[in-house]
Amino acid sequence: MAVIETHNLERTYQDGNQVIRAVDGIDLQIQEGEFTAIVGPSGSGKTTLLNLIGGLDKPTSGEVIIAGTPIHELSDNAMIDFRLKHIGFVFQAYNLIPVLTAAENVEFIMLLQKKSKEERRQRSHQLLEAVGLGDRLTKRPGELSGGQQQRVFIARSLAQQADLYLMDEPFVGVDAATEESILKLLTEMRQEGKTVIIVHHDLQTAYEYFDWIVLLNTRLVAAGPKDDVFTSNLLQEAYGGRLTVLSRIGVLIAKKDFPLRESDFKEKEGQGDG
Ligand code: ADP
Ligand code: MG
Repeated sequence: MAVIETHNLERTYQDGNQVIRAVDGIDLQIQEGEFTAIVGPSGSGKTTLLNLIGGLDKPTSGEVIIAGTPIHELSDNAMIDFRLKHIGFVFQAYNLIPVLTAAENVEFIMLLQKKSKEERRQRSHQLLEAVGLGDRLTKRPGELSGGQQQRVFIARSLAQQADLYLMDEPFVGVDAATEESILKLLTEMRQEGKTVIIVHHDLQTAYEYFDWIVLLNTRLVAAGPKDDVFTSNLLQEAYGGRLTVLSRIGVLIAKKDFPLRESDFKEKEGQGDG
């Protein structure tokens, strides 16, 4: 069943006289209980699409329907309520509350949900343990490294126990061992029927851990089961122009073994991501 649908979704930005099309004509269906990775080159609209799906941004035209609700028709207050009930976020722009400890930051979301003190404490300790911060429970964000703060974000978002998680490059600044333990945590969530949509740079782990791939280049290049999407033709369409690298990836895909990150073939133009 499709838990999320987008219809002809478009978001443009006005930059002086120029119209920047961030995403255009996106018709998408995300299946309930599936793990979906959004991949595409830098500037291809991944963050914009995730913001639109999460109701953090409004489309210029088109609509997003989550579990039957056209979310952009909700009032601002109803949207906040909808998000708190249904959607967990791991976004880089989100901040921890500086005066609260790591454990309190994780518990905060459960406080909003009126969970008991004991449940909050248990769950926050369990989650911080799972992301490798069991010995940092009482540290404040200022006393944690960037990667550790990112792990607290992830623990906080998992504490919400939403049905749907939206994550924008959650592993940036997180070491490989922690990334793996978090991916394992996500795998457990899959068994609980959660839906996860992640913007993820690493094509290899995208292939390894996710079932569905959305391949984006302002327009939707392809969406579907990973083996249908990870073909050299479609990747070439999305990453257009970077032919040498793509033919390399094509070969690697054929071997079902492609230890490459997008950053390995990003043009050195200083274009930041996210
Ligand atoms: P990605 O996450 O794939 O790197 P983004 O969704 O961040 O891509 O951006 C898609 C396009 O929209 C880019 O060309 C970007 O410069 C533009 N864009 C994103 N946000 C804004 C904004 N707030 N104002 C103007 N242009 C924007
Ligand atoms: Mg981005």
